[in-house]
Amino acid sequence: MNDPVLIVGGGLGGVATALGLGQRGHRVRLLEQSAEIAPIGYGVQIGPNVLPVLAQLGVEDEVRRAAYLPDDLLLLDAVTGERLVRVPLKGESFEARFPAPYICIHRVDLHEILLRAVRAVPEVDLNQATTVTGYSQTAHGVQVHTEQGTRIEGRALVAADGLRSRLRAQMHPSDATRDTGYVAHRTIVPMDQAPASLRRRQGVTMWTGDGFHVIYYPLRDHTEMNIVAVFRVPDGMEATDNGAYRTHIETIAAPSQAEVRDVISVVNLERRWAIGDRNPLRGWADGRVTLLGDAAHATLQSLAQGAGMALEDAAELCALMDAHGNDPHRAFALFERRRFVRTARVQLESRALWHTYHCGGVDAQVRTLQLQERSTEDLYRCFDWLWAPATVRVPQPA
Ligand SMILES: Cc1cc2nc3c(=O)[nH]c(=O)nc-3n(C[C@H](O)[C@H](O)[C@H](O)COP(=O)(O)OP(=O)(O)OC[C@H]3O[C@@H](n4cnc5c(N)ncnc54)[C@H](O)[C@@H]3O)c2cc1C
Repeated sequence: MNDPVLIVGGGLGGVATALGLGQRGHRVRLLEQSAEIAPIGYGVQIGPNVLPVLAQLGVEDEVRRAAYLPDDLLLLDAVTGERLVRVPLKGESFEARFPAPYICIHRVDLHEILLRAVRAVPEVDLNQATTVTGYSQTAHGVQVHTEQGTRIEGRALVAADGLRSRLRAQMHPSDATRDTGYVAHRTIVPMDQAPASLRRRQGVTMWTGDGFHVIYYPLRDHTEMNIVAVFRVPDGMEATDNGAYRTHIETIAAPSQAEVRDVISVVNLERRWAIGDRNPLRGWADGRVTLLGDAAHATLQSLAQGAGMALEDAAELCALMDAHGNDPHRAFALFERRRFVRTARVQLESRALWHTYHCGGVDAQVRTLQLQERSTEDLYRCFDWLWAPATVRVPQPA
């Protein structure tokens, strides 16, 4: 019981788990490969289901202060300019229905808030520049092996090492990430340098087109604009072939609305992330080892819930480790049982929406009719399972 719980990965999932366990008196060693635990510096949307988790961790007030509260989620057709969907994120009906506000926050700010809280908990030991290559275990404990040639002992291991998790690969050697053929570009523009058409927006604005979407929202008290642009890379074209790729983007932009051309004109096309996810896969636990966050259930960004699911995981796992601390096998088996279907639903609905967001031709025409028929009440009902889950408990600390 004296050996620490090892956590591999200092992303939002790993840091939140370290914080939750440390606050409950568990010794924790967090192992992160980067020299500094620092996230990629872009925005993240956090659904109303997630703030209660951050409240459990004692950081809700700080998060609220650092957050931007968008007025609405808008989905628009990039070519015709038609409005397909408007989901109000403020007002009486939203507040009566959902447990917390919908927020946008700079990932660095959220991460920093969690890290500051972790550093105040003496039970948690942060180990940076430590790359884990694999694990082994006995009946009594677990060991991780590092690229630096060391072995670190623990009583349990939480693998929160992200979409391309090495520990998941050890557990499930034949499972691979699913590449979508799309790439994302992320950019933050100071608000006073953002095109005027973007500056007037007070919510999360998304334009959908055949093989692409762009999405943007203000951050940090409306002083910055966070932009994500996602494009399908045509067959045979290298995503690194800048000349041909730029021509491809110009071809997409040409028939689009002026606001879409404005946003594409300020996107940094040099930096790109290949978009991938995982198939839902049972078997997150192997004895004293469990997967968590993207390592367990990486999802496409369509519902903006990958980080949200990692944070919900952290809350559930901490409660179970507290209840079954001497028996990680039991805690981890229950963890998967409680979290599998919800996270699988996020993965599969995100895939279905991926088509909705990127289709063209008759598919897009039918999609437009279907979405425009929905009232605000219909839209809220679609989000109930995700934003106001009755089945996912938000556990109280002991
Ligand atoms: C373009 C884009 C937009 C997104 N927008 C949203 C959004 O709006 N809302 C939302 O909820 N989600 C969003 N997501 C998803 C979200 O970013 C992820 O789901 C979330 O970051 C997963 O957190 P995690 O802690 O599981 O993994 P990660 O954040 O990937 O953290 C994994 C950590 O493990 C470390 N690591 C990896 N391998 C090792 C190793 N071998 N040894 C030691 N350390 C290791 C990494 O350095 C990293 O720090 C978005 C994703 C993308 C790509």
